[in-house]
Amino acid sequence: MPQRWISLLRLLAAALLAVALGGCTLVADYVIEPGQNSTTGQQPALLAAVPPTHLALHRSLFVADLHADTLLWDRDLLEAGDHGHIDLPRMQQGGLGLQVFTLVTDTPRETPNADPAVDHCIYATSRNLAALLTVLETRPPRAWFNLRARAYDQAGKLLDAERRSRAPGYQGPELMVVRSAADLARLLARRAAGENVVGGVLGVEGAHWVGQGDADEATTRAQVQELFDLGVRVFAPTHRFDNALGGASEGCSGRGLTSQGRWALLEAERLGMVVDLAHASSATLRDAVALLAQPIIVSHTGVQEGCEGVCYRPRNLSDDEIRLVAAKGGLIGAGYWPEAVGPNGVQDILRVMRQVARALQQPAFKATHPGLDPHAHLALGSDFDGAVETPIDVAGLPALTWAMAQGGMTETQLRQAAGGNACRLLAQRLPGGSAALAGTACK
Ligand SMILES: [Zn+2]
Repeated sequence: MPQRWISLLRLLAAALLAVALGGCTLVADYVIEPGQNSTTGQQPALLAAVPPTHLALHRSLFVADLHADTLLWDRDLLEAGDHGHIDLPRMQQGGLGLQVFTLVTDTPRETPNADPAVDHCIYATSRNLAALLTVLETRPPRAWFNLRARAYDQAGKLLDAERRSRAPGYQGPELMVVRSAADLARLLARRAAGENVVGGVLGVEGAHWVGQGDADEATTRAQVQELFDLGVRVFAPTHRFDNALGGASEGCSGRGLTSQGRWALLEAERLGMVVDLAHASSATLRDAVALLAQPIIVSHTGVQEGCEGVCYRPRNLSDDEIRLVAAKGGLIGAGYWPEAVGPNGVQDILRVMRQVARALQQPAFKATHPGLDPHAHLALGSDFDGAVETPIDVAGLPALTWAMAQGGMTETQLRQAAGGNACRLLAQRLPGGSAALAGTACK
């Protein structure tokens, strides 16, 4: 074949590939994502019912959210989107001061069976939708098949958004990636001074490559250190299936922490990362609470009590587990989606918060934990952009805090649950943190 024809064929193949990849990106952005991260449509009516006096109060809150999967998707954080749940302009609109953005590298295709009578669990071999999405979105090929590379790619997206939000000409809020207690104090001071700045904390949901292949202690700890160096400050060992670190709440083994899991969590704690036990099996949660010295979080969850129908009990916390987390000084982030909290939108989010407070007022527990404030362990854990349908997106947060106020929370309790508790925990646990700093920085 003449050289010219070969060149032409190459050009044609490249053009076809480009069209195919462009098509894939369009499918990922405009077909898959809007269907995955939707809202129920109640937000405009909910927001319209919020009185101006409450809006003023909401603006004075420090609102923080412990979990969102936004980095998985191909949306630009700097642009106000017409779908999905979070971006910087909508964070500002909703008055959200700080969001934990989580690296999610393996989302299994199988959904659990809501019928507790049917035995069902998720295997690590389930098809990985995060991988498919990474290909469809034409992220760098190294991230297509490698979980660690995918985590790095997603982290890069947040760091890139931080850089671009500081470039001249950008009108939206500046993103500050918070890595230390001093960063958090700076974020709070700048927001208090009226600056247009929001905070982001990197988290990992399922550190599946850490400790793999019976890794020894030094290797496991080095893998955690690597995540710390990347900027990760919230460390959830498991996601929806069991891995080398331990059992997951929807996993098949029911096991607790492995040796690798113990080394990983001890290293995370030593470095100043917050250990997150959302998606952990009950055994993993108990092992971690017994192992660690510092408070832990369950970043996005529901409660087993009152969880019926579409709400999936095995994923949620029992009253005993709520008490374990609180006794450790930890936080429970109330999720916003029906499979965690139930089908009744904002009212079910409140129901979960009430149940957490109620579980902590059990007489036997109160007797052994005098002085424990039942509202000091509540937080928001939306799971925004986590392939869930929520009653609000981030711009609808005033409607949620209004519902919390109407539901009987005092202003102090509202400030605690909306972000005060999360602020204090981060100010204590992040590198350089202390109880004294938490006391001065988090009002
Ligand atoms: Zn999750």
